[in-house]
Amino acid sequence: MSSRKHLIAGNWKMNETYSEGVVLAQELANALSSQKPEADVVVCPPFVDLKGVQGVVEFDNAPFALGAQNVYWEPSGAFTGEISCDMLKSVGTTYCIIGHSERRDYFHETDADINKKCKALLAAGIIPILCCGEAEDVRDAKQHVEFVVAQIKAALEGVSIKDANELVIAYEPIWAIGTGKTATPEDAEEVCAAIRETLATCLGADIAEGVRVLYGGSAKPGNIAGFLEKENVDGALVGGASLVASDFAEMVNRA
Ligand code: PEP
Repeated sequence: MSSRKHLIAGNWKMNETYSEGVVLAQELANALSSQKPEADVVVCPPFVDLKGVQGVVEFDNAPFALGAQNVYWEPSGAFTGEISCDMLKSVGTTYCIIGHSERRDYFHETDADINKKCKALLAAGIIPILCCGEAEDVRDAKQHVEFVVAQIKAALEGVSIKDANELVIAYEPIWAIGTGKTATPEDAEEVCAAIRETLATCLGADIAEGVRVLYGGSAKPGNIAGFLEKENVDGALVGGASLVASDFAEMVNRA
């Protein structure tokens, strides 16, 4: 197990209307109220739910931070449908997922786009949760480490940070997302260790040692402990299981 503080982040994806999101956030706040979590916790609802979930964080003193699922790198202007860093900050968002495989696949986001998003978030003081991960054919060809290393290098090109807590990485093998097929803890450790070595090249060894690298892909209460035992796995990015407050709270409590 690493000395870095664990982080458990929930990615609600395109689920929960505004009022459903408030209820889910309240359920999570209640489920976590019996003991202060030892891990850092982040909840990433859809954009329209951010303000409502922020209200729960503020008024119910909920022990989790607010994250978005996407951002646009320009500060303002004629970019219909997009959301800026300042808009996210104005509703209390402190983390933002970028480079999720669903955005890369369905919305054709490139490494260059993700690099611009990463720089814009860091400049705004929002912590990027930078996702990476290979498809099944890449793993079958045993190219997964090189593939992920290349994604990280491209996303971090020209990026420098002063504090390791300014950035989070999430390794999410695509074949394990929402499929019920999980990577083994050893699979996750192999790639997360390679990510940390890459971070040392891109950002310096001291920073790399402190950056949290999460595993994501069908993580649930029954399997999270095995991942968290690994030296280079510092938490989880959780999709499906984050929509059930009791499951997500159980994962937080196991961290
Ligand atoms: C995700 O999409 O970030 C994710 C990890 O999803 P799931 O946990 O449902 O596999």
